[in-house]
Amino acid sequence: MSRVVMYARVSSRRQEQERTIESQIAKIEAYARERGLELGEQDRYLDDGVSGKRLARPGLDRLRDQVAQQTIDEILCLSPDRLARTLAVQQVLLYEMEQHQVKVTFLNQPNLATDEQEKLWQGITGVIAEYEREVIQDRMRRGRLHRMRQGETVPVQAPYGYRYLADQASRRSQWLVVEEEAAIVEQVFAWYTDSGLTQQEIAHRLNGQGTPSPEGKKWGSTAISRLLRQSAYMGKAYYGRKSADTSQIGQMRKAGRGRLAFPRYLAHPFAEWIESQVPALVDESHWQAAQSRLDMNSQFSSRNSRRPYLLRGLLVCATCGHTLQGRTQGQRITYQCTYGGCRRPPDVPPHRCVVSAAVVEPLIWQALRSLLDQPQRLQDAWLSFCAVPEHTPNSRLEVRQNNLLLRRRRLLDLYETGAISLSEFQERLTPLAQELAQLETQLAEPAQPPFQISIELFTQRIQSALDSADVSTQQEVLRLLIERIVVSDEALSVEHIVPTIDNSRLDYTLRAT
Ligand SMILES: [Zn+2]
Repeated sequence: MSRVVMYARVSSRRQEQERTIESQIAKIEAYARERGLELGEQDRYLDDGVSGKRLARPGLDRLRDQVAQQTIDEILCLSPDRLARTLAVQQVLLYEMEQHQVKVTFLNQPNLATDEQEKLWQGITGVIAEYEREVIQDRMRRGRLHRMRQGETVPVQAPYGYRYLADQASRRSQWLVVEEEAAIVEQVFAWYTDSGLTQQEIAHRLNGQGTPSPEGKKWGSTAISRLLRQSAYMGKAYYGRKSADTSQIGQMRKAGRGRLAFPRYLAHPFAEWIESQVPALVDESHWQAAQSRLDMNSQFSSRNSRRPYLLRGLLVCATCGHTLQGRTQGQRITYQCTYGGCRRPPDVPPHRCVVSAAVVEPLIWQALRSLLDQPQRLQDAWLSFCAVPEHTPNSRLEVRQNNLLLRRRRLLDLYETGAISLSEFQERLTPLAQELAQLETQLAEPAQPPFQISIELFTQRIQSALDSADVSTQQEVLRLLIERIVVSDEALSVEHIVPTIDNSRLDYTLRAT
């Protein structure tokens, strides 16, 4: 025998209090009697004075519990808005009832019969199902993250050399080593670290053997470097290194043309990565050796056209004063003046100013290091620079003051000769007078003592930066100390930020040709 229950609700809003819950119960009971059904006290699920916007309602909660336990076959309700105020909540509830094969009958609304309504209903339930799926996926994802943090599971995406094995009742999920692929990985590491082969050569050898790449195609140096960078091979797989940001897909690109078609990947800080232990394929010292060689390569590779020019913006042509431009042609990196030929200004003779990076970069770098080895000299130079009167901050203000006084004198002359009217004179005088007054108060204050810096600390920090330096750090250090380097035919003269340091002329003979 099927069990039929009723659900009735009135909200706390005053205009609805007139329609008491009793009138709803009476209407539903009358309808039930017509159908020959008898509803007892235990078949009433009532919410008196509860908003229909919320899902958390005592009567509704009890009803949903019964629905979930499948002890109910049909629910009688006056109208959909008694079940829920908003369409979304209504549909969530109806979908839930439907999942448990519970029929909902609304007295004030005939059953949805027309095709259009049916379609709408299906569309809505589809959306809800999708939403639910997402909620479940999200919950699973979070559970998975948690288990991964506990070391109970491994990432699903296994790199070349492994197969992911999902967890079963008897064991946790894990990566299985694929022996033939693992042998290739070992071989690649050995070739790279022991035999000193280049990535290109390794790719060539693998292709010669007929070994397919992880994508099943030919090996290239990119695939080799990706393989050498894979931390899993020394036993540590990481999860959550980056996340995809899909919010900008379809928007105009900030650089370049067209719209963004792919997600942007945002790298997460290392502290947020989740580490999993996986079977190692090479020992850690081997792996580390490969990493240092890779780092060296990326820093000094002349094939890498995106290699930053260490001295970018610092080298200046002695003949015309233009900044030299970095150029990479094949294996050769140079800095050259591009204003010595047809682009040169009329008063400049034709000239050629080209220096090879291989010559000039180590030279400057060495000079800088030897300078940093003598912090006392840097400090002396700095202090004597500050001691010279014209370098005190006040001298700058005095120069400005003199300029303003001169302009005021000229303005007065203009007015006296009748070249400008009184109103124009006043208009132009006001800002001048204001700035002059401001300067006078500033000059009346005691002069600031020279800026004190701890040169030892400064050089220590620079030294430590140099030891671990990547090119952009090196560039930063260079710019801290060097104003510019003038390149002439036979010498580089280094103009330091801190002047009065001698030994700034570096003679060199090896000119790029
Ligand atoms: Zn030039």
